[in-house]
Amino acid sequence: MSKYAIKPGATVPPTPFYYYDLDLLRRTLGVATEEANRYGYHIHYAMKANVERPILEEIRRAGLGADCVSGYEVRCAVENGFAPEKIVFAGVGKSDGEIEYAIEQGIFAFNCESLQELEVIDGLAKAQGRRVNVALRINPDVRPETHRYISTGQAESKFGISYTEVDEALARLNELPNIRIVGLHFHIGSQIRNLESFAELAERVNEIARWFEERGVTLRHLNMGGGLGIDYEGPDEEPIPDFAGYFRTFHDHLKVREDQTVHFELGRSIVAQCGELITRVLFTKTTAGGARFAIVDAGMTELIRPALYHAHHRIENLTAEAEKEKRAMGVYSIAGPICESSDVFAREIEFPESRRGDVLALRSTGAYGSIMASNYNMRPIAPSIFGGEE
Ligand SMILES: *Cc1c(COP(=O)(O)O)cnc(C)c1O
Repeated sequence: MSKYAIKPGATVPPTPFYYYDLDLLRRTLGVATEEANRYGYHIHYAMKANVERPILEEIRRAGLGADCVSGYEVRCAVENGFAPEKIVFAGVGKSDGEIEYAIEQGIFAFNCESLQELEVIDGLAKAQGRRVNVALRINPDVRPETHRYISTGQAESKFGISYTEVDEALARLNELPNIRIVGLHFHIGSQIRNLESFAELAERVNEIARWFEERGVTLRHLNMGGGLGIDYEGPDEEPIPDFAGYFRTFHDHLKVREDQTVHFELGRSIVAQCGELITRVLFTKTTAGGARFAIVDAGMTELIRPALYHAHHRIENLTAEAEKEKRAMGVYSIAGPICESSDVFAREIEFPESRRGDVLALRSTGAYGSIMASNYNMRPIAPSIFGGEE
């Protein structure tokens, strides 16, 4: 059941808004760090999933570092108190200004995604009289079972340095005195539920790491990226993702020396389940073909995942749940108000009979929800409400 259960007669703030359960976030962080600590693993939070300040505060307090994919995220991490030595900066297209800023801040490492980027970082580090740490993001050509828009680790993807280029990357590194290679970075995609994909990644990393070590490169850090999926169908059955199984998979398959550290960059699995998008039914109508629609006041401007990735979020009618008498079930499509045919949250689902004014919750929207909001149709950004404070 939604954490935003409405009590009969209670007033609901103006919709749409995001509701975050900080108590669930804290418990999720507790499990994630406990399971990682078991093996001495380090977690960097992938900032791009959500940057609401109370959420960053909980994450920083739990001791996680920050994984950033833009200079703006690096700035946000610094401003929210993340120590620079716990910040890494990845991304396939870093601008000179973003790189310069991150060098000035003295971040832990850049995850580099092309040979040209290595040269540019070397030049910009030289200009500041610094030597900076880099990890090479290698594309391991692992194909996880996930949506193709969120799969990043196969050979034809734009991300990372191709394994056919590692020879050249290594030769180039030896000519660049202002960068120091400290490790390898991988990230094969997102919303990966099958732990086999991570076992496959670990085995590939073993081969690639050996290749580097045989050529005299000491890899102090192995960064496995993120990608652990969550249960969008059953947020109440699995409110906290299987961190135990995830880290155990790496422990069982990844070869790690005593002097090496292993890093992870988790986003979705940390924050997705603690967020809900609360919206109201504006209108109901039936098409000529007999399909019933509930038109709600949130749309792809608040939550673009269904339109962009055909993602499915569980939807609950909180008003119907709060009533004593059960409402009849019907088949509904639930759509937003935006002038785009793709602005539909769910098509033909079994749903309680819904009426104008009913309050609905779209579950599991803490990751890649509010952060991807837009002003399309000149809509304002929806506010956030936080519950479960200590
Ligand atoms: C998006 C991203 C992540 C986080 O992915 P999740 O699926 O949210 O865990 C980690 N690392 C990199 C480089 C990313 O781009």
